[in-house]
Amino acid sequence: MSSKEVSPPLFNHDHLLGIEGLKETEITQILDLADQYVEQNRQTNKKKDLLSGLTQINLFFENSTRTRMSFELAGKRLGADVINMSTSSSSIKKGETLIDTASTLNAMRPDLLVVRHGSSGAVKLLSRKVDCAVLNAGDGKHEHPTQALLDALTIRRRKGRLARLTVAICGDVLHSRVARSNIHLLNIMGARVRVIGPPTLIPSGVEKMGVEVFYDMEEGLKDCDIIMMLRLQTERMHGGYFPTVSEYFSLYGLDYDKLSHAKEDALILHPGPMNRGVEIDAAVADDLTRSAIQEQVEMGVAVRMACLDILTQTKRENG
Ligand code: ASP
Repeated sequence: MSSKEVSPPLFNHDHLLGIEGLKETEITQILDLADQYVEQNRQTNKKKDLLSGLTQINLFFENSTRTRMSFELAGKRLGADVINMSTSSSSIKKGETLIDTASTLNAMRPDLLVVRHGSSGAVKLLSRKVDCAVLNAGDGKHEHPTQALLDALTIRRRKGRLARLTVAICGDVLHSRVARSNIHLLNIMGARVRVIGPPTLIPSGVEKMGVEVFYDMEEGLKDCDIIMMLRLQTERMHGGYFPTVSEYFSLYGLDYDKLSHAKEDALILHPGPMNRGVEIDAAVADDLTRSAIQEQVEMGVAVRMACLDILTQTKRENG
């Protein structure tokens, strides 16, 4: 390559819409950079001016605590101007379409748009209508890429690797964008993935995504390194998927008894919000020797900083 030729960026995407289609090297690049941001976030002075002059709009059509807050913190810690658009007090309530909202925001020249939407595919559709980088903060049952990346960072820091680990994703897999993004990421990174849940909450044909299916927790948790618990997404359920919450808990809720079937040092993850006594026993969730749930929240900020950084790199370099 001549000295005048510029090598292409390692992460060659305009947006982060999902994990599907990313390469192992791209995921590793994000995780390596996020590791550096974990260190920065542990300092008293957490602020950089890397994104100074850039505008980030957070547009959440669905409720969120962790994801919205951590995208906001991530943008602010990198020096961007961050604006949160509340859909409950915007013209969306007056019947404006997603595309019109996208065009309106685009005219204000944001550099980053972080979007959560209740419909699968809505974030991709919106990304085609704007000129800036779009980050998917969760679209329906489809993908939640930054959640899978923060889960991967948590696992990698605790276990030293992702490859060859056995990971069980348990509970309401059917309605979970977290499960889908994690299945993609873990397969790309060479982990062994299992899903465990009642037949009504396991998507048919999920084996084609490269997972092993179990309907029994004791069997599925055997020899697992990582246990990822999922919330019952009742807001996406129409009809009865399980008889009662107490029956669900007794069969699929993670308690010490079921946990004893996994490896002795198996790590427990949960994307939050957690429903204690439904998919996880309160004592297990609070057991810091086993659960990395709070650590996941910390990793979330660092991973989102890495994503904002990487997606604006080309733009910053070109002025
Ligand atoms: N917070 C995650 C999501 O937005 C998981 C959940 O809501 O249960 O998908």
